[in-house]
Amino acid sequence: MLPAVSDRPPPSPGRGWQDRGMAEQRRDAERDRIWAELVGTARRTVADGLVVGTSGNVSARVGDLVLVTPSGVPYDRLGPDDITGVDLTGRQVLGTLVPTSELPMHLAVYRATDARAVVHTHAVHATAVSTLVPELPLVHYMAAALGGPVRVAPYATYGTDELAEHMLRALAGRSGCLLQNHGTLTYGTGLDQAYDRTAQLEWMCRLWLTASSVPGLTPSLLTEAQLAEVGERLKGYGQRR
Ligand code: 13P
Ligand code: ZN
Repeated sequence: MLPAVSDRPPPSPGRGWQDRGMAEQRRDAERDRIWAELVGTARRTVADGLVVGTSGNVSARVGDLVLVTPSGVPYDRLGPDDITGVDLTGRQVLGTLVPTSELPMHLAVYRATDARAVVHTHAVHATAVSTLVPELPLVHYMAAALGGPVRVAPYATYGTDELAEHMLRALAGRSGCLLQNHGTLTYGTGLDQAYDRTAQLEWMCRLWLTASSVPGLTPSLLTEAQLAEVGERLKGYGQRR
């Protein structure tokens, strides 16, 4: 653990290597904190029913380091020593566990956007919608929180560069998309936001499936103009700081 600031000796000439050591310690502490947050988020996807077993994966960017869930390891078994990290080219720089098979998708998001966290799930309602339509119909204004109507990326085999390319195209101007016959992907400025966007997306998909399954009736939909209005309004949503 880091000593409290007040316990540290003041910097003095010739202490450069020790100062550098402290900066490194601080960076490592931040990295470990985000790893713990990442594991907590991954466990939450299971606890909230968005993921079954080890389907899905979570990542977070810390500088040029990308922390990722390891492939095929149940999240409740992950501890501080299982920290797994790659650089932006996908080279493993931290840990010995094999990183998630969806590295191409996660890295594509970090290279193309200012994302700090990415969540991928096989949430059931979202995956069901991905088999039915090329875009989630505008059944609720919360689509604006994801940047607009949520697109479905055409199917490609899991873990491939092809899937990452399809996903990135579907993500243009959005912070989330569906992956045909596969699941969801969302990103955010942090793990909480990326997770919340997945939960909202799954909820909206459930809403559309529910409304569109009433025999003889068709759900009313919002227009792009109505959605754009909400997009503006959402900028002022919540508590003022
Ligand atoms: P990993 O266990 O390799 O992360 O794979 C799960 C998954 O969702 C693949 O699409
Ligand atoms: Zn998957």
